[in-house]
Amino acid sequence: MKTYAIAAIPGDGIGQEVVPAGERVLQALAATEGGFAFDFEHFGWGGDWYRQHGVMMPADGLEALRGKDAILFGSAGDPKIPDHITLWGLRLKICQGFDQYANVRPTRILPGIDSPLKRCKPEDLNWVIVRENSEGEYAGVGGRAHQGHPIEVATDVSIMTRTGVERIIRYAFKLAQSRPRKQLSVVTKSNAQRHAMVMWDEIAAEVARDFPDVHWDKELVDAMTARMVNKPATLDTIVATNLHADILSDLAAALAGSLGIAPTGNIDPERRYPSMFEPIHGSAFDIMGQGLANPIGTFWSCVMLLEHLGELAAAARLMHAIEAVTAQPALHTRDLGGQATTADVTQAVCHALKASQD
Ligand code: ATP
Repeated sequence: MKTYAIAAIPGDGIGQEVVPAGERVLQALAATEGGFAFDFEHFGWGGDWYRQHGVMMPADGLEALRGKDAILFGSAGDPKIPDHITLWGLRLKICQGFDQYANVRPTRILPGIDSPLKRCKPEDLNWVIVRENSEGEYAGVGGRAHQGHPIEVATDVSIMTRTGVERIIRYAFKLAQSRPRKQLSVVTKSNAQRHAMVMWDEIAAEVARDFPDVHWDKELVDAMTARMVNKPATLDTIVATNLHADILSDLAAALAGSLGIAPTGNIDPERRYPSMFEPIHGSAFDIMGQGLANPIGTFWSCVMLLEHLGELAAAARLMHAIEAVTAQPALHTRDLGGQATTADVTQAVCHALKASQD
């Protein structure tokens, strides 16, 4: 029997509630599936680690993760530690250290979930946003000088390389090609940013020649926000820069019902390193420790993890169990207008898995 080595990094805030819930569901799935098992190793990195050690993760942390089949991540963020330290010290260290250059964010309106888009039928919103995850606005290039003086200067330089842009656009075309509608929207801001964004448009046109069966269009990022709200059914696969896609996918998650539902995968498509799966929400300190966190985003991330491992039948079974649970308003957490707890939802998904086995 195959045993998958999984690193669990709950991180901060509600990450410490939803990652153990994800682990429970994966173990329940493996128990009912039979063909594989999971061996979890837990890493207590994040804000508390920072208070004890002065860093978010140890210097040799990547080495500890390197041999894993996948990583299940919660969130990084702490009200007492500046956001750029928590983000760069843990999540980005792993994403960039393992060159997980494709950040993949599926969005659908799951059964039983209300979208704030009143005219949108559930089948009208079925998107995958592909976020460039290794460079661009998150390249980390820039600096500050003369801090606190009137002549203070600060720069964040967005770096776009031909290699980086081409590989993410190619990934997005391939993904679009694998989906029934075979449709891709390439998002830029090439009217205002007339160097790197123009290069994106040019590279998209070049790569498109290798995918003659994929219909593709270009959209400016500001126009894309309006199109997502007004004409959701015209979209399928979307590719955008690191920052643009970050913003668009929060909007997408809200349009699909709640930030608490949305999953993401930080993928190394070449499989040189482990890929990392996490809910898109942050540490949500306002609700931590109260059992209010919606674990569905983590469970859906577990579905992506299983797909990445090639366990497609098990992934489909878990997605089915998730949908059976979201379909019941009595099992909605507070972010969805319900009163169920993290534990209630977790237990219900485990039951649904067991029921689907019988
Ligand atoms: P960070 O700085 O780590 O990104 P944040 O608190 O600024 O964290 P989010 O964690 O994304 O941002 O939370 C935004 C809002 O959405 C909060 O009010 C939070 O309570 C709510 N929220 C986010 N995730 C969930 C969830 N899984 N279940 C319920 N509510 C959630």
